[in-house]
Formats: sequence, structure tokens, C-alpha cells
Amino acid sequence: MRIDPHTHSACSDGTDSPADLMAAAARAGLDVVGLTDHDTTAGWAEAAAAVADTGVALLRGAEISCSDDGVTLHLLAYLFDPDDAALTAALEEVRTSRAGRGERMVERLAADYPITWSDVAARAAGAETIGRPHIADALVAAGCFPDRAAAFAGPLATSSPYYVRHRALDPVEACRLVRAAGGVPVAAHPRAASRQRRLVPDETFARMAEAGLAALEVDHRDHGPVQREQARRLALSLGLGCSGSSDYHGAGKPNRLGENLMPPELLERIVAEGVLPLVTP
Ligand code: AMP
Ligand code: ZN
Ligand code: FE
Ligand code: FE
Repeated sequence: MRIDPHTHSACSDGTDSPADLMAAAARAGLDVVGLTDHDTTAGWAEAAAAVADTGVALLRGAEISCSDDGVTLHLLAYLFDPDDAALTAALEEVRTSRAGRGERMVERLAADYPITWSDVAARAAGAETIGRPHIADALVAAGCFPDRAAAFAGPLATSSPYYVRHRALDPVEACRLVRAAGGVPVAAHPRAASRQRRLVPDETFARMAEAGLAALEVDHRDHGPVQREQARRLALSLGLGCSGSSDYHGAGKPNRLGENLMPPELLERIVAEGVLPLVTP
């Protein structure tokens, strides 16, 4: 069983449509793919409609933007009720804040780079959730940088004067919301240090575990061998499962589908605990 449970489509900041993502998952030899767009379930229906043709099962999810004492933390949520009032309201609030934050970052950037908000909106056409990768695409299209990674190493970095925060959920509260919506929360790349200077402390993951966290993502390309070992130990000490994923973003990142996988036992547990089923061929 090859399970890649964490990918993005053009409904957030990936570049493949949900249907194209399912086709790419089939070409990569996956049995199950998780669609986990940032703060939205907008891609679920199109991806589910491609299951029969591609023969790849779909794990429906989302990657929820959280912030712990100012440190960004991403919470994967699986098989929750997409109509749950509290969770959908929280996600909508984050998406709205992201759009305003994108405009404010572009206002700052426009002083030094030849981009406008309408350029960014054009790059984000079809996306339900706006993120820095869309601003990166506008900077690339304007000829300022060769690719997203170069833009992130420059003006889009968290430490840059152009950076603006957006509203994000408290991670413990988010775990409760996801469980209350019948879903299963898993912490994404908990030890990825490349993105910001501070890391989320172990104590936060302990409180998340009490609030229903099921697993930590251990095998992820933003974790080196040391971070993987730390994350694995932390998961063990908190009685959590260990996951792995590609965090595929299509052409937006070098991440390749299937480069890290979720163990089948963890998927079984998520399916047993989630209110929705897998969509199977
Ligand atoms: P945001 O959520 O708007 O703050 O933007 C963060 C997103 O940008 C994450 O989902 C990452 O996948 C993406 N990202 C971060 N660093 C890079 C990079 N170096 N190249 C491409 N995408 C990146
Ligand atoms: Zn992303
Ligand atoms: Fe993430
Ligand atoms: Fe992701």
C-alpha cells in the first residue's frame, strides 16, 4: 500500500487541478492520495470524481493554518464533516484573513517590485485560499525571480520587511474543532526549521495530544535525519502515530509524489475514527 496523505492542488497553492493531481498520483504508483489544500475543502468533489478513472483512492483532508505563540504550525485534518458549522466558519475566517494579508504584502512589495494585486489575483485564479506562493508566481512572471523558491528566499521570507501575518487558529483549539467535526488531526512537519527561526515546543504537541491529535508527520523533506529522529521520539513519548508525506505542490515545489509515505496501520486508524469514508475506486 503506497499512501501519500498530504498534497496540494490549485484550489490552494499547488499547480495541478484536483483531477490532474489524481492522474499524477496514478502515474506515481500511489494506492491512496490525501488532498490537503490549505484551509479549504474546495477540491474534494473534483478529486473524488477522478477516483474511478484513476484507480487511486482519495483521503479527503485539509491543512489548517495554526499559530502557537506567533509560531506557524500546520495541522492536517482528515475525514471531517465539511459542513460542520464551527470548523467551516473557522476556515473561512482564515481564508478571508489570508486574502487581506496578501493585499497588504503586495502593497509593501509594490514599492520595490513591479507587481500589483491584480497580477497576484490572476495567478491565484481558481484558488479558494491565497498564499505567498501566488505572490511568488507574480514575482516570477514579472521576471524578478527564477522560481518560487528564490522569491521565498528573498522578499517573501518570514523575516522580510514585506512579510505580513494572517489570522491562524490556536493549534489545541483546532484539534478540538477537528475532532468535534468528526475528523482526525495530524501535525504536519512539526520540526521543519527552514521556514522560521522558532520551533513549536514539545509542550504544545503534548497539549494537542490531549485534545485529540492522532499523529506527527515524521518523514517529510523539510526534516533532516535529526529532526525525523526527534519527531519520532516525541510521537512515541506522547503515544502518537508517525506519518510521512510528499507535501506535493505540483510544479510549485520540487517535492515528488510518493517520496514519503504513511504507514497503512495509521491510515486504518484514521479511517476507523473519521466520520467520512475513503473514496475508493
Ligand atoms: P503562506 O501559507 O501564505 O504563509 O505560505 C506558505 C506556503 O508557501 C507553504 O504552504 C509552503 O508550501 C509554501 N512555501 C514555503 N516555502 C517555499 C519555497 N521555498 N518554495 C515554494 N513554496 C514554498
Ligand atoms: Zn502550500
Ligand atoms: Fe505545511
Ligand atoms: Fe502542505
